[in-house]
Amino acid sequence: MDVLLAEQEKMFQRQMRDFVENEIAPFADEWDERNELAIEAFYKMKDVGLTGLTIPEQYGGQGGSFIDAYLASIELARASISVASIFGTHVGLALSGLHHFGNEEQRQKFVVPAAKGEKLCAYGLTEREASSDISRMSTVARREGDEWIINGAKCFISNGDKADIVLTFATVDKQLGSKGITAFVIEKGMPGFSVGKVEDKLGIRAESAAELIFDDVRVPADNQIGEVGKGMRIALSILDEGRLDVAGQGVGVASAALDAAIAYAKQRHQFGQPISEFQGIQWMLVDMANEVDAAWLMGYRAARIADSGERFTKEVAQAKLYAANAAMDVVRKSLQIHGGYGYMKDLPIERYYRDAKILEIYEGTSEVQRLVIARALLS
Ligand SMILES: Cc1cc2nc3c(=O)[nH]c(=O)nc-3n(C[C@H](O)[C@H](O)[C@H](O)COP(=O)(O)OP(=O)(O)OC[C@H]3O[C@@H](n4cnc5c(N)ncnc54)[C@H](O)[C@@H]3O)c2cc1C
Repeated sequence: MDVLLAEQEKMFQRQMRDFVENEIAPFADEWDERNELAIEAFYKMKDVGLTGLTIPEQYGGQGGSFIDAYLASIELARASISVASIFGTHVGLALSGLHHFGNEEQRQKFVVPAAKGEKLCAYGLTEREASSDISRMSTVARREGDEWIINGAKCFISNGDKADIVLTFATVDKQLGSKGITAFVIEKGMPGFSVGKVEDKLGIRAESAAELIFDDVRVPADNQIGEVGKGMRIALSILDEGRLDVAGQGVGVASAALDAAIAYAKQRHQFGQPISEFQGIQWMLVDMANEVDAAWLMGYRAARIADSGERFTKEVAQAKLYAANAAMDVVRKSLQIHGGYGYMKDLPIERYYRDAKILEIYEGTSEVQRLVIARALLS
């Protein structure tokens, strides 16, 4: 696949591989075991400029492309989907949303420190009763002079418990449905803003999923992002970029699981020969390799379209849907090839198996991706 990358992209991919091999992979199991957001992973990403990867240099970033973000997600997820999620949530969702839709003053105030890794960002859209259908959100924003008063709660917010900056959404009038939704920045320390339940999860245990509670939070009008009532458009447009990261996460974990399966099948002997000699195992490996490559190509296509400036909503939904499904299938087959040893915590395949499921759920479930794709096909 590398033949499809420009020299500069291959160089970035190699740098990412070295970084992940030395700074992320050795700690991935320990962070997972600890079951809290691995903030040291964020600081390590800060040291190599990943915290502002796709943000222009003038705002403290690296000026990277969508392809770069995709490659970074793949490499990070080869070691840990949790770490790839910390990265994707901070850069792909919150920060690039703030960069695209914030004004100059907001970029200086929020984007610059976050791109430099001095502040951690989260993206707060989901609510207990409004998730796949966000038009039903019940977090409300009421204007009072130069401030908005925000009341409500968000749930399952990645990076949420430690975030300094939360790009969030509230309705100015529930009767307006999606047309009332508006984007705001809520900052850590604002009176009335607190962290509620931090979830205990099946997988991605080195990433958090937190409840954020807004109780009469007074937000300066300057923290309103974009126009009143345009929040739905902002939220969905940001999700396109986030889904590219999730597609990369699927490719990353699936390729790590495939590599582990090949290595194990060659060294594990049964019936007097390596299990890789059995056709039943070989066929599984072939199907896994096909899924990894097809997933890679779909994400690559979406990233290239994104870099061309064209709309990529359908292609990225296809890539995310396919990669999530491929990751689940490849990880399951890899565990099967590992037999009982794959089920034990001594090998990372057990963690890949628990982690991969999230790909079918966050940033729009697989059913929601199908809705998006069907809408595009039938329009
Ligand atoms: C670990 C984790 C991290 C997360 N991080 C974030 C974050 O950082 N920020 C954020 O805002 N959110 C985040 N989320 C929320 C995530 O995006 C939602 O969980 C997801 O959108 C699904 O919402 P739900 O869980 O309420 O399921 P529901 O919307 O209640 O869906 C339940 C089931 O119904 C299906 N369904 C719903 N509508 C349809 C339909 N029209 N047709 C067919 N099937 C349908 C769904 O696909 C699903 O299978 C996170 C979630 C998790 C688990």
